[in-house]
Amino acid sequence: MLYLKKDIIDKLTEWTLVEKPNEAAGYLFKDNSIFRRIITSDKSITHFYDENPEQLLKWIEKYGSPNIFHSHPCAGIPSGTDILYMKNTLIFNSIWFIMGNKMDLRAWKLDSNYRPIELEVNIID
Ligand SMILES: [Zn+2]
Repeated sequence: MLYLKKDIIDKLTEWTLVEKPNEAAGYLFKDNSIFRRIITSDKSITHFYDENPEQLLKWIEKYGSPNIFHSHPCAGIPSGTDILYMKNTLIFNSIWFIMGNKMDLRAWKLDSNYRPIELEVNIID
C-alpha cells in the first residue's frame, strides 16, 4: 500500500499543468512510509543518473530511496524507455509515479521478470 499526502498530489498536479506540454519530472521521498517530499528536476527523468549524481547521493543519504515522478502527455503507464530506466532504479527499490493526461497519478514497480506492476495509491490528508 502506498500513501501520499493530498497536498503532494495537488503539487504534482499543479506542476504537471505548469510544465505542459513538456513532462514534469522529479523525485519523491518517503518519511515514515508516507510520501511527503518532492524535489523537482529541470531535466527529463531519463537523465536520472546524469543529472547531478553527487546531489542525488546527498538526498539519498538524507531522505532514503529516491522514487521517480514524471508526467505523460498520454496515459500514466510506463513507456518502453521508462521500463529501461526502471531497471536501473531497481537497486533503490524505487517506485515510479506517472501522472497521466487526465491528472490521474499511477504508481509502478517492476516484478522479477521486469514487467511493470501497478501499485495502489492511497491519498491521505
Ligand atoms: Zn514516462
